[in-house]
Amino acid sequence: MSPRLAALVLAGSALLPAQAEVRDRVRTLLSAVDAARIEQDVRALVGFGTRHVLSRTDSDTEGTGAARRWLQARFAAIAATTDEGRLQVALQAATVPCLRPGMPRELPIVNVIATLRGTGDPERIYVVSGHYDSRNGRGEDGERAAPGAVDDASGTAAMLEACRVLTAARFPATIVFAAYDAEEQGLLGSAAHAAALADAGATVDGMITCDIVGNTLGMDGARYHRFVRCFSYASGGTDGSGRSLARAVTYAARTHLPDFDVRLILRGDRYGRGGDHRSFFEHGFPAVRFTEPREDFSRQHQDITSRDGRPYGDLPDYADFAYTANVTRVAVATLAELASAPPPPLAVSAALRRDRYDTELVYVPPPGAAACEFVWRETTAADWTNVVDAAAAALVSLGGGRMQATLAGVCLDDVVVGVRAIAADGSRSRVATPPEPDRFDRQRRARTAVTEDDDGQR
Ligand SMILES: [Zn+2]
Repeated sequence: MSPRLAALVLAGSALLPAQAEVRDRVRTLLSAVDAARIEQDVRALVGFGTRHVLSRTDSDTEGTGAARRWLQARFAAIAATTDEGRLQVALQAATVPCLRPGMPRELPIVNVIATLRGTGDPERIYVVSGHYDSRNGRGEDGERAAPGAVDDASGTAAMLEACRVLTAARFPATIVFAAYDAEEQGLLGSAAHAAALADAGATVDGMITCDIVGNTLGMDGARYHRFVRCFSYASGGTDGSGRSLARAVTYAARTHLPDFDVRLILRGDRYGRGGDHRSFFEHGFPAVRFTEPREDFSRQHQDITSRDGRPYGDLPDYADFAYTANVTRVAVATLAELASAPPPPLAVSAALRRDRYDTELVYVPPPGAAACEFVWRETTAADWTNVVDAAAAALVSLGGGRMQATLAGVCLDDVVVGVRAIAADGSRSRVATPPEPDRFDRQRRARTAVTEDDDGQR
């Protein structure tokens, strides 16, 4: 096929993706998310008294052992509603080093993990998690009450509800649902899981941790229930894969949940604090954290008490389960989009033409893509502001699987450009951005002078 003909064929297929199909499918999934179910799960987890990693494991009603057996049973009940073997439930047990003062140097941890294997591209994995362990005012206390309703029974219940809803559908990619142990002791459970995935050479294209997603009453007395914060790590700049995942979250929320916002926070986590997504970031996997807009610090990591007439302790009566249901919907919409879509394209390079202000983007469409589309934004904008579909991008095949799109009137010097893949049903991948040229490194490698005119010429 000639390059021109290939371009015409691809441009024509840009008309094929049916946005309505993915919208209808995701709408059905979102309407199945049940706040009452989330409340039941939060109250059940709180009912174990404490889920501290050092709490008892020999009881069926108290402590971390009872909590994880309950989680395993919840996953198994969901698995039982599906065809044989579609949702696999497993425990990941390990003994890991702990650096926290006052704690044993080694801790036994147990993650509870359910895997919904993909039907077309099962090696590509998306992870959604909450941490089921809890703590009170003393981080090493494994005996006294540590209800952890918002931190993080809320996130664990959101993850369970996402599992229940998503398991009713089929996705090309694999979705893993994880209840992590020992987050409060240094992200130990997620570190073990992320390391196991990295050691196995897994392709984790996205990880979402739901952590502290249940309180909507700010310490200032105002209600904050209309959005969730989405934190993302980046190793440099604002276009790492974690940021790309965060922008896939905003895309999914805007497309499928118009009455609920996602606020991008271009920082790895709350100031000076951490969460399980960090374990995935450290292995180079795209990872984000969902957290309520305004945390109430009289709840988290506190003993149940009252001081100056103010109640302390992380109890379920302070949680807003309708809010947690909306955060769950954001996770479900994002996972449904990404696990239905092809993987992100390979963004090879971008260059500004020298005869007019057009940007030429070279990319390799992934297998299974019905089309690709192109996005851009000002360098100072947090999120993509402009979309150019394939039909408007004058596609040319360069051979070797590479394609070139032209973004007319887009001056690359001032903007960031990217490309994402679209499945036949209209679902979108994460956006891939071409690597930013590192002039200093290139100069050092070449050990030759590079003139302004040379730099960036095609
Ligand atoms: Zn937490």
